[in-house]
Amino acid sequence: MKKIVSDLNVKGKKVLIRVDFNVPMKNGVITDDTRVRAALPTIKYVIDNGGKAIVFSHLGRVKAVEDIAKNDITPVAKRLEELIGKPVKFVNATRGAELEAAAANLKEGEILMFQNTRYEDFDATTNTETKKESKNNAELGAYWASLGEVFVNDAFGTAHRAAASNVGIASNVKETAAGFLLAKEIEFIGGAVDNPVRPYVAILGGAKVSDKIGVIEALLDKADKVLIGGAMMFTFLKAQGYNIGASRCEDDKLDLAKELLAKGKGKLILPVDAVCNKAFEDTKGTVKTIDKFDADDMGLDVGPATLDLFKKELTGAKTVVWNGPMGVFEMKNYAAGTIGVCELLANLSGAKTIIGGGDSAAAAEQLGYASKMSHISTGGGASLEYLEGKELPGIACVDDK
Ligand code: ADP
Ligand code: MG
Repeated sequence: MKKIVSDLNVKGKKVLIRVDFNVPMKNGVITDDTRVRAALPTIKYVIDNGGKAIVFSHLGRVKAVEDIAKNDITPVAKRLEELIGKPVKFVNATRGAELEAAAANLKEGEILMFQNTRYEDFDATTNTETKKESKNNAELGAYWASLGEVFVNDAFGTAHRAAASNVGIASNVKETAAGFLLAKEIEFIGGAVDNPVRPYVAILGGAKVSDKIGVIEALLDKADKVLIGGAMMFTFLKAQGYNIGASRCEDDKLDLAKELLAKGKGKLILPVDAVCNKAFEDTKGTVKTIDKFDADDMGLDVGPATLDLFKKELTGAKTVVWNGPMGVFEMKNYAAGTIGVCELLANLSGAKTIIGGGDSAAAAEQLGYASKMSHISTGGGASLEYLEGKELPGIACVDDK
């Protein structure tokens, strides 16, 4: 069991809190503040219990001089101030005397935020990419650690990479805990990996087999059933000898698909029909069984018989992990498969339903099913690596209870 922020005695302590404030921005304006809202419970816990909160995050990537102004985190500090209803002292730097003084003078219940941690990835004076933050430069981690006393990691989206702002700090402070958001990822995704309540059904879709080889392999080991949809279904169907028409396929992954099919015999469930169009466009399609494709048919969604099959496979499931949309859900004519899976999960009783980040999380939110799921991961790449069973450095660096 990992230590959680609520296990810490934060009273009077300077608490370094690594959050994920990597919000979408357009011309310096935040277009979606979900991530800022999501971090509030952890920050509130610290200040409500007499801690001194030092909050920081990365924002975008900083590889060149023009990325600096573009990824200025000042508007996010302002938004945090509005949402939390308390002043947020902001230091427009990632190091230096002003930051050190601000941290040292912080009083109980106060919040300090500093600039985008990835400003440390680029040295403007020599115009070089140094990646000090992203490559976990030892001096930088020790420096940030020196600003506080305890460390709380609440950034799951970057937990699959060792950075100065997670592993670097953790190795230089006495005590490290997970924030509430990270703790929820550990509880649900970690729970599904280490100790799933069975039957355990995985649903995988999305664009490419090649993105998800590790996850498919891991889930074929762990889950009781693995249901496949999305564009990746066609690589498997072609490997089985079906004519997939003009559907998206990775021909260089056919051998791998054959291997996975052999390994997953009885476990791997493929669609039996698809909704096809003659072009990649949002016009009404035709439902075809997978043995009836014409050369110009492009499968853009799973069909109704597939949803019936998936429903049967999901009956009685106690743990369901879903990653990757079932079709081109961005087009309304090809969203039915993804909506159907959302419905199936929403109607399962007594099951833990977990959505593993990225486009599938966006789909569930966009389609209005977010509140019906047990957990929607906040990380894309991180949730995939976690599901693969890999140890994530940003979690490994958190103390055990
Ligand atoms: P996630 O981010 O959830 O892991 P991916 O990034 O792997 O998912 O895939 C999402 C994309 O896959 C979506 O943009 C969707 O339009 C696309 N997609 C799903 N099914 C198909 C299909 N049959 N043909 C082409 N693209 C598809
Ligand atoms: Mg994606």
